[in-house]
Amino acid sequence: MIPFLDLKTINLRQRDEFHAALDKVLNSGWLILGEECKSFEVEFASYCGAKECIGVGNGLEALHLVLRAWNIGPGDEVIVPSNTYIATWLAVTYTGAIPVPVEPDRTTYNINPALIEGAITARTKAIIAVHLYGQPANMSAINDIAKKYGLRVLEDAAQAHGAEFMGHRVGALGDAAGFSFYPGKNLGALGDGGAIVTNDPVLANQLRALRNYGSHVKYHNEVLGFNSRLDEIQAAFLRMKLPLLNTDNGHRAEIAEIYNHGLAGIESLTLPEIIDGNTSAWHLYVVLHPQRDKLASYLADQGISTMIHYPIPPHLQPAYNNLGFKKGDFPISEKIHSETLSLPMGPSMSIEEAKKVVALVQIFCKAF
Ligand SMILES: *Cc1c(COP(=O)(O)O)cnc(C)c1O
Repeated sequence: MIPFLDLKTINLRQRDEFHAALDKVLNSGWLILGEECKSFEVEFASYCGAKECIGVGNGLEALHLVLRAWNIGPGDEVIVPSNTYIATWLAVTYTGAIPVPVEPDRTTYNINPALIEGAITARTKAIIAVHLYGQPANMSAINDIAKKYGLRVLEDAAQAHGAEFMGHRVGALGDAAGFSFYPGKNLGALGDGGAIVTNDPVLANQLRALRNYGSHVKYHNEVLGFNSRLDEIQAAFLRMKLPLLNTDNGHRAEIAEIYNHGLAGIESLTLPEIIDGNTSAWHLYVVLHPQRDKLASYLADQGISTMIHYPIPPHLQPAYNNLGFKKGDFPISEKIHSETLSLPMGPSMSIEEAKKVVALVQIFCKAF
């Protein structure tokens, strides 16, 4: 059996540290917005090369609260990738604004900057750039367009902790960034968690109130806020995990290299391409195959777990019926969604396991 991602093994590596972290929080008697959260915020901001970090409840809330702080709401539009996890779109929808999808680049699967201008209207307020599967979006092109039209840029870095664009870590490449610490992410908590990273101290100050009932001082509510905080226990666990992030990402890159090398030259298979100047966090190793479902079930029969990220694009989800999209509206995304398969990937996967996956994919593709 080769699991897709072995969270049990990954987290048991630090069993004793987590127990110690839990004891520390228990002994402090302080469970929400205390020293652990504050320290994690400082450490994670520094990791991202940014001035500010604001811990929140999850990745979706990180994105949502930034859009709220920018006063984006009904009547506004926000550019989003058509090829992303639905959370990117939901963050926009929660504000009352409309997500306006833009198709991806065929090489990186990230939003295609050349198509963004065509989607901008007088109502457009911001662009959300998703670093999908761990590879940074083309931030310099996106920032140039944003500058030209006076738009904000929000990075959805939920899949890209530690990834780099032109030598700079994601998180400080736009006006603000949202991170998720969902357990399966590259930096995962032992439950839900998220953070916003920014170089803008005014925005950071607003967000510290927005996440906490709109209040800087207890029971003084300046704005209509939310309850979305990174609790002390998760912050304490994340502080233990952050020092392992670079090593873990390095291991992911090694696995990716084995896949890249072993699967090169198979005609029916499209491998991920990391463009010059990008360092991927390798959150996922995604291949495209025209018989994706057959490949997945063949691998499952051989004891190898795979996943599909994602089977249905947001514009075709019943939840977004109200936007009136239909099949064929975003053909590049639809093709990716119909052919995409994520091979096992993670910090606890062995080189031997990766080689076994390679061998089996080769066998399937030869017979195909
Ligand atoms: C996981 C994820 C989110 C949401 O994060 P949660 O912590 O699950 O709310 C947002 N965007 C992308 C691209 C994600 O992968």
